Amino acid sequence: MNEEVLGRLKAAEEVFWKNDGYKHHEVMEDGAFTMDDIRAAEERLSKFAPLIERLFPETSGQKGIIESPVMRLERMERHLDGVYGTALDGSLYIKRDDILPISGSVKARGGIYEVLKHAEDLALADGLIDEDLDYAQFASDKFRELFSHHTIVCASTGNLGLSIGIMSAKLGFKVEIHMSADAKAWKKAMLREYGVDVIEHMDDYSRAVEVGREEAMRRDDFYFVDDEDSVTLFLGYAVSALRLKAQLEEVGIEVNRDKPLYVYLPCGVGGAPGGITFGLKTVFGDAVHPVFAEPTHSPCMLLGVMSGRHDEISVRDIGLDNVTIADGLAVGRASKFIGKTVGDMIYGFYTVEDEALLKLLAKLRDEEGMKLEPSALSGMPGAYKLQQKDPDMTPGTHLVWSTGGDMVPDEVWRKDYEEGQALLGDE
Ligand SMILES: *Cc1c(COP(=O)(O)O)cnc(C)c1O
Repeated sequence: MNEEVLGRLKAAEEVFWKNDGYKHHEVMEDGAFTMDDIRAAEERLSKFAPLIERLFPETSGQKGIIESPVMRLERMERHLDGVYGTALDGSLYIKRDDILPISGSVKARGGIYEVLKHAEDLALADGLIDEDLDYAQFASDKFRELFSHHTIVCASTGNLGLSIGIMSAKLGFKVEIHMSADAKAWKKAMLREYGVDVIEHMDDYSRAVEVGREEAMRRDDFYFVDDEDSVTLFLGYAVSALRLKAQLEEVGIEVNRDKPLYVYLPCGVGGAPGGITFGLKTVFGDAVHPVFAEPTHSPCMLLGVMSGRHDEISVRDIGLDNVTIADGLAVGRASKFIGKTVGDMIYGFYTVEDEALLKLLAKLRDEEGMKLEPSALSGMPGAYKLQQKDPDMTPGTHLVWSTGGDMVPDEVWRKDYEEGQALLGDE
């Protein structure tokens, strides 16, 4: 273990750790999952697209495919050049999962995919599906009647609950969401409006998962979406890489070893960034370098991978409190399998202070007119931190994966914005 990095992690200082276990893609061929798994997930989502279009008319422009655009961040790049006192080697882009349809966060990828897959499994078992069934019929009474006898359960810091709650409720499932102490009041209120049973916990995320999982295990008609351990979520997230490849080609952004793609991914329990990383490495190989971003008070994945102890170590074990304004990232113990599965595909990890997130939130609004939630900003300084750490890196395309924001009520978001403005003013 890197003692210098560990010391700074304990002191809740910002760090950048270049993963010494990072491997070339060629040597990772015998992994547990393959491109076939990603393709199968992509095909399933295509089959369900007519249903999504029917249930969520806002997706009709993309024919029921839930996807977000890639955008250039020219003004923000110029601002950050100034802050870091150096021009970025390459160009800064953003992947706008903050405006993903249905739930306005990256969780619309994994969460919705897992609910759809479960609905399909139930319908198959019940003999409701034949070869050429149009999946739009999942919205019909026959299916709703079936789903009304089943309950979907998950635990969440907020956004996974939103995405699973909304999708499940629309299909006619009963839904029970266990919310950790970090979850914002508006997320709970919105879910209750959908008729979701929201159970509030005073504990942190890991404990909420435990309670939800235990409860679901006692019942045959309960299905638990396990954010700490779900392969289905993982593959739902991974599909994004195939979509990204097509998007980059469309706008003429080359990705190869001489012009690599660096991707900065906010990390909570690890499911979303882990699934996306697996997708990216499978699609782009050595031409992509995924980098994970975490709050200084919740660096569970960095700690888990660096120590090799994965889910067997918590940030509390090194004296951190797991308290952060980046609510989607407030996770003290990493996923059971992400670190083990994709640990060697992650180029590096870094941490960001809450105040830095707020300043970036305000600046991104002023410079680019984008409204992100604090968690989603953690990827923003990654390119510059990497460049400081590794001045000789190959110049390329730097993609900040923005993970949430669109659903945040304006008055809630304003408070963060104003706090960020005040911090910028103090400088
Ligand atoms: C959940 C979440 C993440 C990270 O996803 P994990 O699967 O928990 O690692 C990042 N950003 C936001 C806004 C989120 O809600």
